[in-house]
Amino acid sequence: MPYEHILVAVDLTEECDPVIKRARELATPAGTKVSLVHIVEPMAMAFGGDVPMDLSQLQQQQFDQAKERMERLFNKYPEINRGDSHLTYGQPRQEIHQLAKDQKCDLIVVGSHGRHGLALLLGSTANDVLHGAPCDVLAVRLQKKAE
Ligand code: AMP
Repeated sequence: MPYEHILVAVDLTEECDPVIKRARELATPAGTKVSLVHIVEPMAMAFGGDVPMDLSQLQQQQFDQAKERMERLFNKYPEINRGDSHLTYGQPRQEIHQLAKDQKCDLIVVGSHGRHGLALLLGSTANDVLHGAPCDVLAVRLQKKAE
């Protein structure tokens, strides 16, 4: 059975191209919806919630920049379902799982860096999304950039 609704988690870097392309390959032209999701993590969360300054303006800039980059992706990949794509604040794992449930997605596609050592201990979004996912998860292996 082909997938009916694929949710692609994008970090909005140039690395999201191979992830989106893989999702497109799995989609059947007639029947599969492909949507994008990007989560903007609240800055206060990144700083442990204890920041003695107002981050709202910076946060808004971050959100606007993400919106612009999403827009570029919609233009580049016109087959993506804009209506079901989401840009939201929160914690990636939680938001991606919730969205996949709400939209009855049957596959989540994420990028994976195949981390080693300390980076592995710090964890990855792909790992995070896999645990407790409400549907299948595909981790697309991303190539290391040449140094
Ligand atoms: P990372 O583990 O953070 O290097 O990210 C690996 C993959 O997780 C990316 O290729 C995306 O598929 C997904 N991802 C990371 N950050 C986000 C985010 N903020 N919103 C949506 N997906 C994300």
